[in-house]
Amino acid sequence: MLSARQFSELLNLRAPLSKIISVYLPVDHQGTHARTLASLLRAHAREESAADDAGEDLKLVEEFAAGFAPSAWRGAAIFSCKALGVWRACPLPEPVRPALRIGERPYLAPLLSVCDQYQRFGVVLAGRSRVRFLEVFMGQIREYEELAMSWPGLGPTQSRAVAEKLDGLARNQEFSRIVVGAEPEISDRLAGLLRTVLQQNLILDETLGAETASETVLERIRGCEDSARKVRESVLAHRLLDLSRSGEAVLGLDRTLRALRRGQVRLLLIRDGFAKMGYLCQRCGDLSVGFNRCPACNGVMGAIFNVVDELIQRALDGHCEVVRLLNDSVLDSMGHIGAELSAQEASGAVALKSDAAADSRS
Ligand SMILES: [Zn+2]
Repeated sequence: MLSARQFSELLNLRAPLSKIISVYLPVDHQGTHARTLASLLRAHAREESAADDAGEDLKLVEEFAAGFAPSAWRGAAIFSCKALGVWRACPLPEPVRPALRIGERPYLAPLLSVCDQYQRFGVVLAGRSRVRFLEVFMGQIREYEELAMSWPGLGPTQSRAVAEKLDGLARNQEFSRIVVGAEPEISDRLAGLLRTVLQQNLILDETLGAETASETVLERIRGCEDSARKVRESVLAHRLLDLSRSGEAVLGLDRTLRALRRGQVRLLLIRDGFAKMGYLCQRCGDLSVGFNRCPACNGVMGAIFNVVDELIQRALDGHCEVVRLLNDSVLDSMGHIGAELSAQEASGAVALKSDAAADSRS
């Protein structure tokens, strides 16, 4: 699990001399991640820049991919810079587009886009003789065994000690929600001792307790997150539909592509799994759904397997917010994709296109 501290380290990481490797792999039970990595490495080896000193880092990534158990994961993000002693591998609960980038900063946009959809939960499981502390984030759970406390009875003094420990942990780990798993008498007492900001983000759950297995805690929190996400997605999809009536949003692949080309997209919504064949301009790298001359430069278009993936990538690179809808919504009958537009005419359109041209050459 990426801790809050590791996360902010990645955000601030710079290695101007020794470059940082960022790799994203889609994951499934068919071993896709290993094949994808092999083809990314082949493509990298063909590039002129392959004469860099990334060999050792790429070897580490290969070893990781060879031993990675897909489990229920749908993606993986890996960052390595051996010279700086940096290694972070993070399984993801959502799919990502394959990518291998080498630069002085880690390539974080796809990771951030997934992380934004998850909250960091601090969990305290309190019984009369034992108290445990755990953290749940992005489908993973971690137990702080070194913080566990055991004593007979949970009186006022012990409760205060538990609240203090939880407070310290919450500050260090930047928890956005706190779950107290305990019988009501204990959880009420603990809740009363917490800082206001923690009280405001508190979930009391008497079905959990000091003896609950960590897998059960994870399942329970995942269930709550799934329901909350379902509601959030439905709200976003309905808002998109409303905004489209006043011209502040567009629906459907073609219109979304056009808005992205103009640099107008603020928030992109896509139904998870939506894919479509499309075309890429060989000259300027613009995207299109219809086989035709390039809408931007009239150049020749070449077919690409999934234009939606390419569109998501460009939206991320253009600093648009991207939300994958994992649940059924009104968007399913409106073309599976749409975008809220930013108010001002963005100047990002030109940058997007030149990035795309660079991508298509590599
Ligand atoms: Zn073109």
